[in-house]
Amino acid sequence: MYKKYVSTRANQQEISFYEAIIQGIASDGGLIVPNFELEKIALEKLLKQNYVEIASIILNKFLDDNNNLIEQACNKAYNNNFIDNVINIEKVDNIYVSELFHGPTAAFKDMALSLLPHLMRLSIDKLKIKKDILILTATSGDTGKAALEGFKNVEGIKIIVFYPTDGVSQIQKQQMISQVGDNVDVVAVKGNFDDVQTRIKEIFNSHEIKDLAVNNDILLSSANSINIGRLLPQIVYYFVSYINLVNNKEINLYDKVNFCVPSGNFGNIFAAYLAGQMGLPINKLICASNKNNVLTNFINTGIYDINRPFYKTNAPAMDIIVSSNLERFLYYISNKDTELINKCFNDLKNNKKYQINDELKNKIKEVMFAGMLEEKEILTTIKECYLKNNYLLDTHTAIAYGVLKNYQNETNDRTKTIVMATASPYKFTKDVYKALYEYELDDFIAIEELNKKTKIAIPKPLQKIKDRKIRYKTVIEKDEIVNYVKNKIEKYR
Ligand SMILES: *Cc1c(COP(=O)(O)O)cnc(C)c1O
Repeated sequence: MYKKYVSTRANQQEISFYEAIIQGIASDGGLIVPNFELEKIALEKLLKQNYVEIASIILNKFLDDNNNLIEQACNKAYNNNFIDNVINIEKVDNIYVSELFHGPTAAFKDMALSLLPHLMRLSIDKLKIKKDILILTATSGDTGKAALEGFKNVEGIKIIVFYPTDGVSQIQKQQMISQVGDNVDVVAVKGNFDDVQTRIKEIFNSHEIKDLAVNNDILLSSANSINIGRLLPQIVYYFVSYINLVNNKEINLYDKVNFCVPSGNFGNIFAAYLAGQMGLPINKLICASNKNNVLTNFINTGIYDINRPFYKTNAPAMDIIVSSNLERFLYYISNKDTELINKCFNDLKNNKKYQINDELKNKIKEVMFAGMLEEKEILTTIKECYLKNNYLLDTHTAIAYGVLKNYQNETNDRTKTIVMATASPYKFTKDVYKALYEYELDDFIAIEELNKKTKIAIPKPLQKIKDRKIRYKTVIEKDEIVNYVKNKIEKYR
């Protein structure tokens, strides 16, 4: 009963869970996926359980190991740095909003990035790795800070975070460049998120850099959602959100629900899909995008085309054109057709686009609906929701909220729906403030003003943020990333 992992492109040998965590991306350029049938979760058993208990039950389905290690890791990850039971669900109008932003950096990425360092530590011990691990991370804003918080001062691990200079909010930037910890580094890159992510993927696929790392006793790994250890912890909050509604008698056990997810790299919504494969009763997944609507187009037409302008929007964590985790979704929805995956991603590399056939497209449409919101619509959604319900959405969550409203108007689907709230409104305060008061303020002033006017509390991790000491000022060109990493590897010795 060994649980092994393979690549979506089928050109890598089977590896264990622990090897998958350390390796990050598959050696053939594909993504690592389970090579076993996903087990169904008995929902009744989750009813009176808390977040850590549910997380342990779910994650234990992904490795053969004694229960305790994963449970200990979950306890360490979630018991101190989050609110009780980790997430909070609010009913707003006729919609359930699952607030995933009550962790150390006020974004949903905290759930996965608080656990990943513990999974990595576990894997280092299991595999008896004697080298230091270097984590390279590309961020559109939230991953970077959440990864820095998760990995700071973890023994045997170093981390470098690369962020696009103008692609993150002032608050996100301040969170990152003021990061403390002896093992962290933060670098601004002139370019957009895709520029950064592409270079980091190149590094992971470069034999030259791998050899250099080996010679310097370093192992490279990733904290992006291409890492399976980033992905799997996200399955948990779909179960927890669902069970919360059952416990509060909003739904009956086994009723189907919809989830609406603001999507970028497609990791979060893919975790929802996996939750469905593990028995969570899901009717539709609603994939919400901003103006970089490559996913909306793909789901509606079957054509994935990256030959398009890149827009910097007021929901920057979703300014992504190459959505990595879509590869894993295609692998599953096509019944593990690795030939198709290879063809698609070769086409993407060579022609900047790929197309799937109608049969597959229709299969996707059965499980998924896709829609997008323009920047102006994001602002009106925030304002309308606040005026009507006294509830404040951040720009990303507002996209999901607005796309869901459109979906409900366009279809007869009255299934109860949970919107995944991926960030606190105080992380993108400038735009949230502008949405409510039609006036633009500097982010740091907007935090105070928004708090004064709405009386909604500023999350702890964002209080007094502007007074923090800046520790990182390096700015490089996108074509310098590779050399920057090489130099670092040599210097660590
Ligand atoms: C990362 C992020 C997203 C996108 O999630 P994916 O898993 O990349 O699709 C949405 N909203 C916020 C606030 C984020 O930080």
